[in-house]
Amino acid sequence: MLKVEHIGIAVKDFAASIPLFESLLGTSCYKQESVESENVRTAFFKTGDTKIELLESASLDGVIAKFIEKKGEGIHHIAFEVNDIEVEMKRLQATGFILLNEVPKKGADNKLVCFLHPKGTNGVLVELCQEVI
Ligand code: ZN
Repeated sequence: MLKVEHIGIAVKDFAASIPLFESLLGTSCYKQESVESENVRTAFFKTGDTKIELLESASLDGVIAKFIEKKGEGIHHIAFEVNDIEVEMKRLQATGFILLNEVPKKGADNKLVCFLHPKGTNGVLVELCQEVI
């Protein structure tokens, strides 16, 4: 894996959280994007070589709404950038990690993504992402 590409943070409300993270990080949100397949809205901030991705549920029963209901707002996942997502998925699966999607899917920010089940990663939801060229 190449680096931590971004950290995903679940928030209830962009209207409050985007200005909060703008003043925390001292930088403006540079992109907002909806991911229809996941029923979430995303907002991105650059922090050096890494990004912060805020996640807001687009519906009352979406994955982010459910996450916040269970655990409250906070860190939702850590995303690692990889060179070849299919090779990494095969490698991790062969090592016993549980993939949450069998084929890479289209994520936010022009990426192919795959999530690993937190059961196999000490409770951390891990995202693999590969930039789509
Ligand atoms: Zn992410």
